[in-house]
Amino acid sequence: MIIERNEEEINKLREAGKIVGLTHKYLQQFIKPGITTAKLDKLAKRFIESKGCTPSFEGLYGFPGSICISVNNEVVHGIPGERMLKDGDILKLDIGACYQGYHGDSAWSYIVGNPKSERDVKLLKHTEEALMAGLKAIHSGCTTGDIGHAVQKVANKYNLGIVRELVGHGVGDKVHMEPDVPNYGKEGKGPRLFKNNVIAVEPMLNLGTQYIYQLDDNWTVVTEDGQNSAHFEHTVLVTEDGCEILTRRDVELAAEDIVK
Ligand code: MG
Ligand code: MG
Repeated sequence: MIIERNEEEINKLREAGKIVGLTHKYLQQFIKPGITTAKLDKLAKRFIESKGCTPSFEGLYGFPGSICISVNNEVVHGIPGERMLKDGDILKLDIGACYQGYHGDSAWSYIVGNPKSERDVKLLKHTEEALMAGLKAIHSGCTTGDIGHAVQKVANKYNLGIVRELVGHGVGDKVHMEPDVPNYGKEGKGPRLFKNNVIAVEPMLNLGTQYIYQLDDNWTVVTEDGQNSAHFEHTVLVTEDGCEILTRRDVELAAEDIVK
């Protein structure tokens, strides 16, 4: 069942989403060569908790970090650790925050320092474009296939591999809820979405093959051919004629959260 959220729930989802957007903004200040992914994870946890939320992914299905941090050929679910970021790395931060029992979920990809290649820059640009195309397809009465089709069209235009085993999802009092929101599909197919449904759309696009596998750590998902991957995700509220992005990125950090 796809749940229609009431005003009180929507306000909590808005707050959770806002904190997720703020956490991205906060962490961006620290994305530099030399920082470890464990440090970013620690900063994220502290920041999320300072805003009255809890990190949604901490301990979720047994996940050992507070946020997911994946680098280069790692697609998603990377575990924070002592790995030090290097100039030109593609960093993916997937952040969830829970406010009074309701979640926000947003992933974003960043280039650490100077990009290694124009291909990497374009991979990020085009994956973000795919996310935005998916969001544009949303309105009350649309289907998950409409969204997937819009994402797929952009991915195909740029000849990027679409990860199929991992999909977007409903968001609410759990991070992962019905329905699945695949990054491919046919217009008019799949479950229908209506006003006040909340979902996460999250294209994961690869420079090379669409195929992936999981490392022996039982978490990290990597591309089969070792080429780079990008991931962009927003949690959105379906409205009558569009959607409201709950994990917006144009939020303002408080003065004390800006690192001098
Ligand atoms: Mg996510
Ligand atoms: Mg998600």
